[in-house]
Amino acid sequence: MDGLDMGANAPAEPLNAESAGPRAAGVVWDLQFIEPSIEAAREHLAATVQKAEHFAKKWEGTLATADAAGWARALWELGEIDNAFRAAASYNELRLAQDSLSPTNQDLDAYVKKESVRFANAVRFLELDWKTLPAHQARRLAKDPALVRYRHYLERLLEDATHTLSAPEERALAERAPAAESAWESLFHETLSGIVVEFDAGEGVRPHTIDELLSYRTSDDAALRERAVTALYEALSPWKGVLAKCYDSLVGDRLAIDRLRGYVDGSGTPLPMQQANVANDLPDAVVATMLKAVEDHYGVAQAYYRRKAALLGVKQLKFADQYAPIGTPARCTYDEARKRVLSAVSAFSKSAASILEAFFTENRIDAEPRKGKAGGAFCSGVAQDKKPVVLMNFTDTINDAMTLAHELGHGLHFSLAQKAQTPFEYETGMAMAEVASTFNEMLLFDYLLARETDPAARQSLIASRIEGSCATIFRQTMMARYEERAYAARERGESLGSDRLSDIWFEENRKEYGDSLVLPDGYRLGWSYIPHFIGTRFYTYSYSFAHLTSLALYAKYKSEGQPFVAKYLDLLRTGGAKSPEALLKTVGIDITDPAWVDPAFALIESWTAQL
Ligand SMILES: [Zn+2]
Repeated sequence: MDGLDMGANAPAEPLNAESAGPRAAGVVWDLQFIEPSIEAAREHLAATVQKAEHFAKKWEGTLATADAAGWARALWELGEIDNAFRAAASYNELRLAQDSLSPTNQDLDAYVKKESVRFANAVRFLELDWKTLPAHQARRLAKDPALVRYRHYLERLLEDATHTLSAPEERALAERAPAAESAWESLFHETLSGIVVEFDAGEGVRPHTIDELLSYRTSDDAALRERAVTALYEALSPWKGVLAKCYDSLVGDRLAIDRLRGYVDGSGTPLPMQQANVANDLPDAVVATMLKAVEDHYGVAQAYYRRKAALLGVKQLKFADQYAPIGTPARCTYDEARKRVLSAVSAFSKSAASILEAFFTENRIDAEPRKGKAGGAFCSGVAQDKKPVVLMNFTDTINDAMTLAHELGHGLHFSLAQKAQTPFEYETGMAMAEVASTFNEMLLFDYLLARETDPAARQSLIASRIEGSCATIFRQTMMARYEERAYAARERGESLGSDRLSDIWFEENRKEYGDSLVLPDGYRLGWSYIPHFIGTRFYTYSYSFAHLTSLALYAKYKSEGQPFVAKYLDLLRTGGAKSPEALLKTVGIDITDPAWVDPAFALIESWTAQL
């Protein structure tokens, strides 16, 4: 039976569909729709790698002179092979996430990793052939109606081609990567994971990691929060030189490679953010406009922190109290969460709700916390011709209900785009990836707020909503500003020692918080443990962009009502087949206009006013 046809009165399926026990006991995936068994997955993968090698034999060397119909044929064939490969590879990843301790799962993983290299080697030629076509020929082909379903993908490859070096140069860069950037990244991660702090959180002294210390920032014990923060920065201090050196080396390396790849302005000076902007499919000017607009609204965050200080009964909020709980969160069982998420989405769109209902009835959610299971939460699209699945660890809190809504938002996005787009275009880039998930959270948030009568539970709900938005919009923008200044300093020939990084970090934080938050001296080392700076530069601003986009879309829904719904679902259906700018234009949002973010900030202000 097609999951889309299942209404609320459909007969209950086993497992998830029956009522779950405490902490979602019994709510586990049935992955048979992807692969019937491990053996089948292995056979499927082996056959797919063979198909990929046949595909290469058939097409390699012919595409330089192929017409649009030839390219369309090759892309269609590759899409089919890619789907089959991704199904087997996703099945492996999902099994590992379910139980990483199982030796059979580990064996499958080793096999998939080995075959993945063969697969990638076999199919790599197609993108390279496209990128090395004469520019006028590629541009003409990309406009051909026969390739319309691949157009955005092909045009993006052409943009990438302008920053791609010759094959020997690319090979040289790839060969040195392990001893260059990867080595600094490893040193950074090994240094951080080696930091273990003997700390007493009230149950006796025991070793704590940095993440464990950070988790006490949400404790309701003020003294514990303060001690944890102090211990954290004391523990980081002896390592600040090494951590700064890792960053300094990476920044220097990236600037050099920017010059080689042509991420530069007219005078040849590197534009360190451009590589991220190209990857996010966002024009430089749009990103600059957004960052400036967020900075101009730092006062919105500051107003919340002042309000929080008043609620906590202090004159000025201390850094250690930034994430102190406000009010008392309500409890929520898995069954209640299911009902509430589906009701909240149903009031928005019945068709969207029935797509989400199928996740429950088809056992495409694994929510039960178990030993060996991956922590956190995610939604996997599996493959373009399959259906998405959600993993989370449900512990009966209202926060878990929000996570369920979030992941099902991704699930809705995948479901719609998978049906409408090719394997090359159903996934969005980073800038749009968190839009549907946050929008779904908003639907649940408003649904809960309209029904919650307990004042303490309401306070907790609203405060969590605002703090989530502030951490995503303002803090991530502040981090992008910090990175900009660090790259600029390095480009001027200044080394990025820990004192210089601490100065920049503190100044940018002061801009964000003003006098609404007292920053302790130890927080000067706040830059030192953030993995995004090391792993993917300017990664953080795409969180700000996506969150602002979700809130702006939600504000549009509130003002336009039902006519907005079809436009929104079409936007999701388009997946990654258009740029964020073009996608948002279809719902009447012009991201080149600085005012596009205003409705998002107005929403946050309206929440603060309700506290
Ligand atoms: Zn997400």
